[in-house]
Amino acid sequence: TRQEEHQNCQFYSIKNNDKLQRRLAIKEQLRYALRRGELFLHYQPRINLANNYPVAVEALLRWQNPQLGLVPPTEFIPIAEQTKLILSIGEWVLRSACIQQQIWQQEGLPSLRISVNLSVSQFKQSNLIKKIDKILAETGFNPSYLELEVTESLFVENFDQTIRLLKQLKNRGINLSLDDFGTGYSSLSYLQQFPIDTLKIDRSFLFDVPSNPDNTAVTKGIIALAQSLNLHITAEGVENSAQLEYLKAQGCQEVQGYYFSKPLSAYNLARFLSSYYRQ
Ligand code: C2E
Ligand code: CA
Ligand code: CA
Ligand code: CA
Repeated sequence: TRQEEHQNCQFYSIKNNDKLQRRLAIKEQLRYALRRGELFLHYQPRINLANNYPVAVEALLRWQNPQLGLVPPTEFIPIAEQTKLILSIGEWVLRSACIQQQIWQQEGLPSLRISVNLSVSQFKQSNLIKKIDKILAETGFNPSYLELEVTESLFVENFDQTIRLLKQLKNRGINLSLDDFGTGYSSLSYLQQFPIDTLKIDRSFLFDVPSNPDNTAVTKGIIALAQSLNLHITAEGVENSAQLEYLKAQGCQEVQGYYFSKPLSAYNLARFLSSYYRQ
């Protein structure tokens, strides 16, 4: 009825207004998050399927705000991107991750690669390389233990410039991976020109593998593509043994997902790692 329609409409605008209010609150609070010490990192293990041992951890940003609670990165990172706050936050993430990896090493844990997400606006800063060099020098971090995760959207503009920058990173010994592979719009014919080491298959494709024929075909295709281009392959979002067995059978080398571990605090990651080596 008309009346219902009207009510729905009102409800809809209240909901939209709430959303807007929340966005504004996030935008406002995020400006102070770094200096108030509200940001921290969690770390999710990446498992080598050749021996079932962790080979790397991905650093994932968390934000706990007194007013907003724990805000998911999918909500605040796009806002940080728009406001350019991602530049200072991203720099903090990289420095903190390098420092944490060295703390684990000092604690006698095995040296794992640490991967850090790099946003497009960070990548487009003119002084990106300088900033990375500075962090590596300050922390004395060995670049071969660092992996930067970039997305296909980097390649949409300034293709040649992007390739040049990535090569500069590679020349330093930094590992590069293409995150969320398959969700972007990069032309496959360009893929072989990207100076990357690893393809990370997006979690959305893994969702109901192997029962869903479409997702299974896409996953299989991406693994075959990576193999033919000599790229290392990581599947993210592995939640059960059926997915794991399928990936193994296809020759996938590395996985990340709740089946092995959720993202953990630095302390819990250290416990997770030591339990592996006590077995
Ligand atoms: P991402 O880079 O694709 O990271 C993987 C996301 O998948 C993480 O979500 C992780 O918790 C989640 N995940 C991993 N395994 C599973 C699983 O088995 N099942 C399910 N349901 N989820 C799984 P998270 O931590 O919420 O991060 C979301 C996104 O936020 C990241 O996606 C990344 O795009 C962005 N992000 C997080 N930290 C940073 C950062 O430091 N810098 C930038 N630029 N982006 C970040
Ligand atoms: Ca990532
Ligand atoms: Ca990803
Ligand atoms: Ca993703």
